[in-house]
Amino acid sequence: MTQTEVVLEEKVNLFQQVQRQIDQAASIMQLEPGIHSILREPMREIRVSLPLKTDDGRLRLFEGFRVQYNDARGPTKGGIRFHPDETIDTVRALAAWMTWKCAIMDLPYGGAKGGIICNPKEMSSRELEALSRTYIDKIYDFLGPEKDIPAPDVYTTPQIMAWMMDEYSKLRGCYCPGVITGKPISLGGSLGRDDATARGGVYVVREAARWLKMELSGARVAVQGYGNAGSFAAVLLGKELGAKIVAVSDSRGGIYNPQGLDPTAVLQYKKKTGSVVDFGGAEFVSNKEILELDVDILIPAALEDQITGENADRIKARVVAELANGPTTPEADKLLHEKGVFVIPDFLCNAGGVTVSYFEWVQNISGYSWPGETVKQRLDARMTTAFEQVLSLFKEYEVDLRMAAYILAIKRVSEVMQLRGWI
Ligand code: NAD
Repeated sequence: MTQTEVVLEEKVNLFQQVQRQIDQAASIMQLEPGIHSILREPMREIRVSLPLKTDDGRLRLFEGFRVQYNDARGPTKGGIRFHPDETIDTVRALAAWMTWKCAIMDLPYGGAKGGIICNPKEMSSRELEALSRTYIDKIYDFLGPEKDIPAPDVYTTPQIMAWMMDEYSKLRGCYCPGVITGKPISLGGSLGRDDATARGGVYVVREAARWLKMELSGARVAVQGYGNAGSFAAVLLGKELGAKIVAVSDSRGGIYNPQGLDPTAVLQYKKKTGSVVDFGGAEFVSNKEILELDVDILIPAALEDQITGENADRIKARVVAELANGPTTPEADKLLHEKGVFVIPDFLCNAGGVTVSYFEWVQNISGYSWPGETVKQRLDARMTTAFEQVLSLFKEYEVDLRMAAYILAIKRVSEVMQLRGWI
C-alpha cells in the first residue's frame, strides 16, 4: 500500500466506509442503479435538541439523533448510544449495518440507530433519567412496536430502557413493553439477553471452524475489549468450545499469557480493580500489540477502525471474529482476504444481540415468556442458518465473507422492496 492510500483511508468516515461496501456489493451483483441509490442513503433522519436542567441548576442543551435506514422488511430496529463522540455519520453507518444484520438473520425488521451526544459517566442518575425521557418525548411519534424499536447500545443500560419504555407508555396511555428491548427481566426483558451477542459470535466461530476444519480445543484466542461482548465471549469460548484465551485488553491496555488465562478470574479482577491490566502471571501488551499476537482466533470487541491498511499485514490469526462494529477498514479487509485470513464480518458475528432482542419483542407482543434454554437453542439455530447461507454465497461469488453477507442482505431487502411495489 502506498503512502497516499494510507492517508486516503484515514479521511473516510464510518458512513462513507459503509457506502463503499454497498458500492462494492452492488457492482459484484450488478444491482440495478435505482435500487443501489436507494440502499446507499438512509430513509429518514431525525435530529432533536434536548434541554436538561442539571443538578447544579444550569440549563444545558444536548443533541440527539435517530436514523431509520430502511423499513422495507418491517419496523426498524437498533440501539441508542450515549457518547460524547457520537456523530450523525456513526449513527447512519450503524443504522445501515442494522438493516443488513436483520436481513441476514431473516428477522422481520429494518435497521435503525439512535444516539445522544453526552457523557453519561459525568451525569447523575436523575440527569440521565430526565435526558432519556426528553429524548422519547421528542421522537415518540416515530417509535412503536410496529414502527421502530430501540434497544441499549454503548453506555445505555436496561435501566435507561425501562425509563424510555415508561415514558413512551405514558405518552401513549398504555403499557407498551414491545416498544423497546434490552429491558430488565422483571419488566419484560428476555432471559439470555445479557450474553446474547457473545454467544451468537461463539456459535458462528464454531461453524467457521467446522468449515475450515480447524481444531477449537486448545485454539489460542486474543480478545481486544473486555466489556459486555468481549468478556462473555472469552468465558464461553473457553467453557463451551475448549479454546485457550491467551490475551485480553480494555481501554487501559492488555495482558498476555501464552499458557492461557482464566477468563472468569480476569473478569472478577476487572470488576474489582476497573481493568484487566496487572492481572497476576501475565505480561502487559498494548492494544495495538494484542491484534498482532501469534494466535489462531482474534476477536476485536472494542471499537471501530482497529485493523487498518497499516497493521493488516501483521495480523497472524487465521480467523478474525468481529464482535465490535466496524473494527476492520475496507483496505484491511482486502489485505486480510489476500492473506487468507477468514474474517467473520461484524453484522453476522455480533447479530446474536439483535436476535435475542427480537425474541424479547416476540415474547412481549405475545405475552408469553420463554425459558432460557429455549432462547439459547433458537439463537443457535438462527446463527447457524445465517452462517450457512452467507457461506453458500461466499462460495458462489468467490468473494470474502463480508461481501457475501452484503450480497445476501441486499438481495433480501431489494426483493421485499420489489414485492411491496416500491421499485
Ligand atoms: P462495553 O462498553 O461493555 O465494552 C467495551 C470494552 O472495550 C471495555 O472493556 C472498554 O474498556 C474497552 N475499550 C475501550 N476502548 C478501548 C481500546 N481503545 N482498546 C481496547 N479496548 C477498549 O461495550 P460492548 O457492549 O461490549 O460493545 C463492544 C463492541 O461490540 C462495540 O463495537 C459494540 O457496538 C459492539 N456490539 C455490542 C453488542 C452488545 O450487545 N453488547 C451488540 C452488537 C455489537
